[in-house]
Amino acid sequence: MKRIGLLTSGGDAPGMNAAIRAVVRSGLYYGMEVFGIERGYTGLMEDSVIPMEMRSVSNIVQCGGTRLRTARCMEMLTVEGQKKAVDTLDKYGIEGLVVIGGDGSFRGAKVLSEQYGVPTIGIPGTIDNDLEYTDYTLGFDTAVNTCLDIINKLRDTMTSHERVSVVEVMGRRCGDIALYSGIASGAEIIVVPEIAFDMNDIVSRINRSRAHGKHSNIIVIAEGVMGAEQFAKQLQQGTEHAVRPTCIGHVQRGGSPSMADRMLAAQFGNKAVRLLKDGIGNRAVGIRNNKIIEMDIIEAVSMKKTFNYELYETLQMISM
Ligand code: ATP
Repeated sequence: MKRIGLLTSGGDAPGMNAAIRAVVRSGLYYGMEVFGIERGYTGLMEDSVIPMEMRSVSNIVQCGGTRLRTARCMEMLTVEGQKKAVDTLDKYGIEGLVVIGGDGSFRGAKVLSEQYGVPTIGIPGTIDNDLEYTDYTLGFDTAVNTCLDIINKLRDTMTSHERVSVVEVMGRRCGDIALYSGIASGAEIIVVPEIAFDMNDIVSRINRSRAHGKHSNIIVIAEGVMGAEQFAKQLQQGTEHAVRPTCIGHVQRGGSPSMADRMLAAQFGNKAVRLLKDGIGNRAVGIRNNKIIEMDIIEAVSMKKTFNYELYETLQMISM
């Protein structure tokens, strides 16, 4: 394979730039020409394709966001749009494609591979960690660290005023950001879409912790359950302690990637190019048990995400 393309699609995630760099540099190492496609699949609709050189990716390993920018592209859901995408790839002689994004982006990649024969490799780039086939997605670690930073600050003020903080984090239908930031911040309670919650039980846990000398409480709620404001209102009806909602919001998607995300980016990007170099397409790269893995992209997007109940129980036991 002599010419490959690269795009970032769906929600941005810290580490996407580091992955772009790894793909470009690995491609150049193997003597390939690498083309960056701007704004996800939209770049294929609008012929927004740029050659990537060694220096195109200088000084971006530490930057959040994505230099190729990203977008949601409705046209890609139509047959006409998909044909347009293939025409643009043909125009530049692009023989293989690396798609960095979440499950939606992978579905686009699957269509290109399955129906149009374009060898495509998926790199899981989303803060949500909602893909079952990989232990971690690119951006998740940084997003959780951003949440931790904010929750630490909330703990300071909540303790001074003896309040209850309800902190809303992202993750769509997946509770992993809430689970990991809840455990790592010492939150007393997490509320996730995977487990039904009981407000009376939450009030009892708060009361028990206060009886044991606690001066504040942190409840981390995943956006897939409900908003922090709504939850705080409901909780306030059952407790005399002052409840304050905070929605962390898009801050979670920005910032310099953590070491863990930069390492994932380097390895995912390099693996994706090695596969294309060997003429292998239609795969998704990931990490499992600390080893970089690859699997069929169709299988990867079909796997149902499971929730780590053991970690949830751990939080219940150690956060009193
Ligand atoms: P995140 O998890 O961060 O939201 P994502 O990749 O899941 O990222 P989506 O908005 O679901 O984000 O998908 C990104 C883009 O992928 C869509 O805008 C569309 O262009 C393309 N896409 C999604 N689903 C399909 C599909 N079934 N067929 C073709 N293209 C698709």
